[in-house]
Amino acid sequence: MQDNAIRRIVIVGGGTAGWMAAAPLAQRLGRSCDISLIESAEIGTIGVGEATLPTIRFYNKALGIDETDFLRKTQATFKVGIDFQDWGHVGNRFFHGFGDYGVPFAGIAPHMAWLRMAGEFDRMPPLENWSVPSLMARHNKFTPPHGAQPGVTDAYSYGYQFDASLYAAYLRDYALARGARRIEGMITGVEQHPQTGFVTAVVLRDGRRVEGDLFIDCSGFRGLLIEDALKAGYEDWTHWLPCNSALAVPCGRVEPLTPYTRVSAKRAGWVWRIPLQHRTGNGHVYSNAFTSDDDARQVLLDSLDAPAQDEPRQLRFTTGRRRKSWLKNVVAVGLSAGFVEPLESTSIHLIETAVGKLIELFPDREFRPELAEEFNRVMGARYESVRDFIIMHYKLTRRDDSEFWRYCADMKVPEPLQHQIDVFRETGRVIVLDPDGFASPSYVAMMMGLGLIPKRYDPFVDQIDLRALHGHFAGLRDMIAQAVTRMPDQGAWIAGQLAAPPRKGMDA
Ligand SMILES: Cc1cc2nc3c(=O)[nH]c(=O)nc-3n(C[C@H](O)[C@H](O)[C@H](O)COP(=O)(O)OP(=O)(O)OC[C@H]3O[C@@H](n4cnc5c(N)ncnc54)[C@H](O)[C@@H]3O)c2cc1C
Repeated sequence: MQDNAIRRIVIVGGGTAGWMAAAPLAQRLGRSCDISLIESAEIGTIGVGEATLPTIRFYNKALGIDETDFLRKTQATFKVGIDFQDWGHVGNRFFHGFGDYGVPFAGIAPHMAWLRMAGEFDRMPPLENWSVPSLMARHNKFTPPHGAQPGVTDAYSYGYQFDASLYAAYLRDYALARGARRIEGMITGVEQHPQTGFVTAVVLRDGRRVEGDLFIDCSGFRGLLIEDALKAGYEDWTHWLPCNSALAVPCGRVEPLTPYTRVSAKRAGWVWRIPLQHRTGNGHVYSNAFTSDDDARQVLLDSLDAPAQDEPRQLRFTTGRRRKSWLKNVVAVGLSAGFVEPLESTSIHLIETAVGKLIELFPDREFRPELAEEFNRVMGARYESVRDFIIMHYKLTRRDDSEFWRYCADMKVPEPLQHQIDVFRETGRVIVLDPDGFASPSYVAMMMGLGLIPKRYDPFVDQIDLRALHGHFAGLRDMIAQAVTRMPDQGAWIAGQLAAPPRKGMDA
């Protein structure tokens, strides 16, 4: 081991972020490094965060987690996308699926071909008919794509919906089994080196001191180390994303078990519905500048499809991000690094990214500032691309039935997003500014779903014989419809998985 190697890692916080950081670090360093995670039952965790993006599978896979074991222990369901209701205008419904609309024809994006055909043929079926995950969602089907050489009918991906506290517990067991140490206690003090300002130890209320070389701040919104101690600063994005409150409540599971998250726009925000095996998670994200907490509570309760299992829990947040999430020897991961509302389930994805980047840029005790700079550059770009994608959901609205939606329609958006919108509106081209963020089909789904139909399409589409184009797309649509018909219901698929004899889980 190099003399300067990190020997003590202290993770502050045992929410989803804390244990998502602990698990891969313990997997890699559990034998050579002292990894401590401190959490306080008195404070607890945020307890929400149940829907994910497909990238969670890569995170789980890197840990060697067996999917069936994971399904069993986290009450997870599969998610092939998001069902948007009343976004764009009241009565509107569209699906953002994890996949494209068929395959490129003669190198041309499917939506471009569709735009031409929609101009040529009356009653052209909606573009969603070429989206495998949209059809799966419509019929509550699920089976994993074949993977190795995906064809037209399995060119889709999936994430999970799970019980956040069970997932954290699952990763906790994983990390503890690989040498991490859990410390229960309330941190009341932070010690810093008098010259460098580096954090040297955290102090618990009962007087215990926990020293470390590297500190990972997973303490939630407050940012115990990154903000309270190091004063990293916070960029507030409320003027673009005015929602600042949420109410969350579970209700009983109903049939059928839908393989998607539903988000329904309301007068001052939106309501989520996340189906799990044992219950359904629900919540209302809203702006308390445009509605009262009481009204928001009622909107949430009215949206449930079974009686509430608890009193709705109130949460407040400020959308934005920490100006620097790696500062000195502290790296903030999770809510302590920033928060963009969970409309596209991006927070856990941002945790995966931060943990992955930290491992990729893992420092030694010299803490070269170049590493922190690179980490902050990547994470800054990622947070901003997520932010802009979410702002787009509000900006493109044609709703004018409340002050909230009128504000969103009128607001000036960040320039890169305005550029993306302008280019799509005028030419149909999708400008993807962050190659590791949402891909082109996601922009097509959202922009066209919200009602932004491009004025023009790729001129190369006109080079293709119209009948050949139409024949190709008609054949594709039939093929996709038939393939989805043959898939099992998600409920049946999960039951089949769970009935299988337990395999050795966590085999990393
Ligand atoms: C309304 C809402 C809905 C969301 N939905 C989704 C979603 O569907 N998908 C998604 O990807 N994300 C979602 N998120 C985000 C997601 O919940 C978080 O990203 C995730 O839970 C990580 O939280 P965390 O671990 O950073 O913080 P927390 O869960 O708040 O954990 C903080 C930890 O720090 C500890 N701690 C704090 N202070 C101290 C102290 N002084 N001493 C000791 N310990 C301390 C606490 O005990 C706790 O263990 C949602 C967030 C909100 C607000």
